Amino acid sequence: MRELLGGKGANLAEMARIGLPVPPGFTITTDVCTYFTANKKSFPSGMDKQVRQAVVTMEKQTGKKFGDLKNPLLLSIRSGARDSMPGMMDTILNLGLNDNSVKGLAELTGNARFAYDCYRRFIQMYGDVVMGVQSHDEHEEEPFEEVMAKLKKERKVVEDNDLTAEDLQELIKRYKTLVKKFTGKTFPEDVYEQLYGAVSAVFGSWDNERAIIYRQKYNIPHEWGTAVNVQAMVFGNMGDTSATGVAFTRDPANGEKVFYGEYLINAQGEDVVAGVRTPKPIAQLADEMPKSHKELDAVRKKLERHFKDMQDFEFTIEDNKLYMLQTRNGKRTGLAAVRIACEMVNEKLINNKTAVSRIPAESISSLLVPVFDTTKLKNAKKISTGLPAGPGAATGKIVFSAARAEEISAKGIKAILCRVETSPEDLRGMIASEGILTSRGGVSSHAALVARQMGKVCVCGANGVVINYARKTLSAGNAHLKEGDYISIDGTTGDIFAGQVDTAPSEVNQVLAGKLKPAKSYTYQMFETIMQWADKYRKLGVRTNADTPEQSQMAVALGAEGIGLCRTEHMFFEGDRINYMRQMILATNTKERKAALKKLLPYQRKDFTGLFKAMAGRPVTVRLLDPPLHEFLPHDDATRRDLAEVLGVSPEIISERVKALHEENPMLGHRGCRLGISYPEVTEMQARAIFEAAATVLKAKKPIDVFPEIMVPLVGFEKELKLQVDVIHRVASEVMEAKGVKIKYMVGTMIEIPRAAIRAEKIAETAEFFSFGTNDLTQTTLGMSRDDSGTFLPLYKDLDIIPQNPFATIDQAGVGELVQIGAERGRATRKNIKLGICGEHGGDPTSVKFFHKAGLNYVSCSPPRVPVARLAAAQAALES
Ligand code: PEP
Ligand code: MG
Repeated sequence: MRELLGGKGANLAEMARIGLPVPPGFTITTDVCTYFTANKKSFPSGMDKQVRQAVVTMEKQTGKKFGDLKNPLLLSIRSGARDSMPGMMDTILNLGLNDNSVKGLAELTGNARFAYDCYRRFIQMYGDVVMGVQSHDEHEEEPFEEVMAKLKKERKVVEDNDLTAEDLQELIKRYKTLVKKFTGKTFPEDVYEQLYGAVSAVFGSWDNERAIIYRQKYNIPHEWGTAVNVQAMVFGNMGDTSATGVAFTRDPANGEKVFYGEYLINAQGEDVVAGVRTPKPIAQLADEMPKSHKELDAVRKKLERHFKDMQDFEFTIEDNKLYMLQTRNGKRTGLAAVRIACEMVNEKLINNKTAVSRIPAESISSLLVPVFDTTKLKNAKKISTGLPAGPGAATGKIVFSAARAEEISAKGIKAILCRVETSPEDLRGMIASEGILTSRGGVSSHAALVARQMGKVCVCGANGVVINYARKTLSAGNAHLKEGDYISIDGTTGDIFAGQVDTAPSEVNQVLAGKLKPAKSYTYQMFETIMQWADKYRKLGVRTNADTPEQSQMAVALGAEGIGLCRTEHMFFEGDRINYMRQMILATNTKERKAALKKLLPYQRKDFTGLFKAMAGRPVTVRLLDPPLHEFLPHDDATRRDLAEVLGVSPEIISERVKALHEENPMLGHRGCRLGISYPEVTEMQARAIFEAAATVLKAKKPIDVFPEIMVPLVGFEKELKLQVDVIHRVASEVMEAKGVKIKYMVGTMIEIPRAAIRAEKIAETAEFFSFGTNDLTQTTLGMSRDDSGTFLPLYKDLDIIPQNPFATIDQAGVGELVQIGAERGRATRKNIKLGICGEHGGDPTSVKFFHKAGLNYVSCSPPRVPVARLAAAQAALES
């Protein structure tokens, strides 16, 4: 019932059902949240009666009474959405304390210090979250902390724990004065007023800024709402026989099957999660509280057997009695997701279909992330070590605030966000950074959880690192660094280095490059296992966008079944070629153009020969030239002078021709097939290069099969395609005749203009295949430039006009429908027409799933995205 009860509420109920020790409580549903938001923050009628009944039930179960002078029932009020949003919403603990009930608690526990500490924590939390007593400047101290610090100074103590019960009573007085001064209101004594205040605040926190950012990042619908869980408090801070902790049933960083977690003796849950005190590893609990450790280990096994997934749970030990406060599917790194899924299949907990469905397709790419170059690492200066919280290697410039991280990353500079401890407010900065380093907090602090999920490199709890926000410095031992200096962190080992350290490819990449034996890499073996399972289930083919033999080889090693797009203009970026290419573009007559083309032909032929060899008989889609002219024209004087020299003309002539070719909208200009139609000799040269290369590999000593698919770009009108295809067929016959070989080939077109999708029925008369160019199709359908939409797209996302960047994730309702129309109409004419997509969307899991549903034959994406597409395609097949 997670839709109604939220993840936390549903799993609390489930744990209670399977006999785990859960403190009694009740859940106010997500429906109430939706009602609350839609009805000016009011509650549905009848709710109050139900809440009071539920409290009475809890009173019976616990033998305590809400607001009682003698034996008060204290409550925890926690949020819980359908999908977990760690730390993004508010929590209130110790609710039900007031000037009366605190005395009851003191008497009952025989521990006045404890009772007053609970009370002051409650005022602090409630004052902050419900009444808004908080600073709005990240460099300013929180008002409650300031009052506390002042009292500690007066009493000449260092730790909070050194304050006596009397000190705490004084602190409570001052806290209440602060609340009155800050808000003009008195702190509520009525426990039901407290309860409704807290419930309203938790519902309200669904719409706080960080929760909204989080939902945007993880595509959680705003209309879901959160549930509120009201539970009897249990205390991990009742002395040395009490503790609290967070644990995982397996290691969330690398997936190893070990009991993993941390705890603090004599503390409340918030202390662990907020990362204020650095907790101890769970193994140590076996010495400190052997009975509880044993019980926990049994719980760990029971949880996995029941939920059949790695769990992340919170527990509290109150005076040697264990309570489970929460469980949920644990967030994990990409590596851990793969390992846990593989090993759970081996353990027969799940089958391989579940394994394939469960690994987020995106996460497979984290197996392909770089690690530090070990040779360079030897010379690097290690300055400290922290806890390894998010694997991978990252290097970048030190920044101390989220804002600064965003600022420099927008300029393309890599940032490492360094914070004493991160709070959810830092989310924006974490997204913008390469890696995150904190000097405090454990591996289950929010920083660590969120970083892992984002696949960010993260080192946390580095006690040896001293961060000074005011001076913008970071020191460790005798190393003193400042903002803007380079730092490198290893999220797999926890090591921190001063300076920039080069990174090296992942183990998987090293195996694929033949530098590491497969048998030596468990990671690689798991990667292969998952990929084989994925291939078993997927229906979509996966090809790659590659323009060089190296890229093609890498893509094939990663599982590409062909080239879906070779952008031939990319073959002209280097060396002399760019000049010949420019000569061709700037030619004023056919003779000049042919002269330039003649020089380009051998390069093209050689390139295609290389590609065909690398692809060894797999289909290769070669797209005819599609250079938006502005990308190729010489822009600055120096380049113009160089070009003039090469061409033996004056720089002025070059400038004149550049001026003549200037277009206001080059993306909509003389590009794509328009170029080949104006200058058929360009198409002819390219076709010749393709067929001659094909003849070369077919006639080689060791012949290689070759299957070119020649693709015409930017077609909108049937006749455009027809004119180009005539040239291709003519050249094909000429080459085959001259070389005495038969070459199997196809001609087809890109569908990247709305008109082409609409006229697909007619276009398919000539085209033997379609490849949807969703980059241009998005650009032309939405009328948004693919090069400069950055100015308004973020706002569009914020306003929910377009939930995702349409150039990254396909706009299913608009552009997607054109793809469907194109596919349908193409098939109406040519039943077996081959349909693919080669825009950037081919490597985006959500889009891949859409293309599966649209019935395409394959997606084509950049080489590193091939495994992601394979996995997403399998998931799409399993989902349907
Ligand atoms: C496209 O438009 O989607 C495409 C693949 O072509 P290009 O990105 O080269 O314009
Ligand atoms: Mg295009």
